[in-house]
Amino acid sequence: MPHHHHGHEHHHDVDNIKTAFFLNIGFTIVEIVGGIYVNSVAIISDAIHDLGDSLSLGVSWYFQKISHRGRTNTFSYGFRRFSVLSAIINSVVLLAGSVFILVETIPRLLHPEQPNAQGMIILSVLGVIVNGAAVLKTRKGKTVNEKVVSLHLLEDVLGWVAVLIGSIVMSLTDFPILDPILSLLIAGYILFNVFRNLKTSLKIILQSIPPEIDTIELEKQLKKIQNINQVHDMHTWTMDGNYHVMTLHLVLAKGVDLVAGAEIKAQARAILKAGDIDHVTIELESPEEHCDLEDC
Ligand SMILES: [Zn+2]
Ligand SMILES: [Zn+2]
Repeated sequence: MPHHHHGHEHHHDVDNIKTAFFLNIGFTIVEIVGGIYVNSVAIISDAIHDLGDSLSLGVSWYFQKISHRGRTNTFSYGFRRFSVLSAIINSVVLLAGSVFILVETIPRLLHPEQPNAQGMIILSVLGVIVNGAAVLKTRKGKTVNEKVVSLHLLEDVLGWVAVLIGSIVMSLTDFPILDPILSLLIAGYILFNVFRNLKTSLKIILQSIPPEIDTIELEKQLKKIQNINQVHDMHTWTMDGNYHVMTLHLVLAKGVDLVAGAEIKAQARAILKAGDIDHVTIELESPEEHCDLEDC
């Protein structure tokens, strides 16, 4: 998941992610081994889900470590876009994981096998505790990203609660088909998230305008600046979902010199900064000037 960072928060956040990563990957291994041992496809499905969470945590940890490197001769924007590539790889891993779950689960719908329900109860209580602790730790976050992460973790807790209830029922009654049913529900949840994340990542790669940027409103505000005649060739995209870039041409009124132009440019930058654009490139034009991109 991409994160946005400023100065002193940096090390603290990296440490939080590092801790979360090791907790998650450790717990994932316990779940996979435990799931095979208690013969439960529901536990294995939840383990695959947590493997995906661990991967994205590991990736954000790595990218926060290298993000300070900034631009290089090969990558003039630095390494921000790399996090989108990792998100796509992560989605592909989860897609393969879901296919694996379905291959394991569907035969069990036809011929249910009794899992070790007591063992499932222990593993799902552990799941509720580990994910619940993570919710409590992230609940106070203020940024949109922190809220999304916290909500996701809360959904994970609910998933484990469902497995816990299912295993209690299976320990009391002879109803082994509940295990593959829970597994299918979890696979559905994984696939829903995969397609949502893939859509977001692909829109970033395809240079779409970030949904939170209102370019029509920004253009309206820019046109209100005194001595701006026209705004054209406005392009907006995002590097990673957090860091937004814009290029545009501003046509000045007749007779406005470069000194006055610099003041107008500063006003335009202030408007765009308030509109959540992090990186602005402005081309100033005089009204007499011919521009090939005028109609863009
Ligand atoms: Zn999760
Ligand atoms: Zn132009």
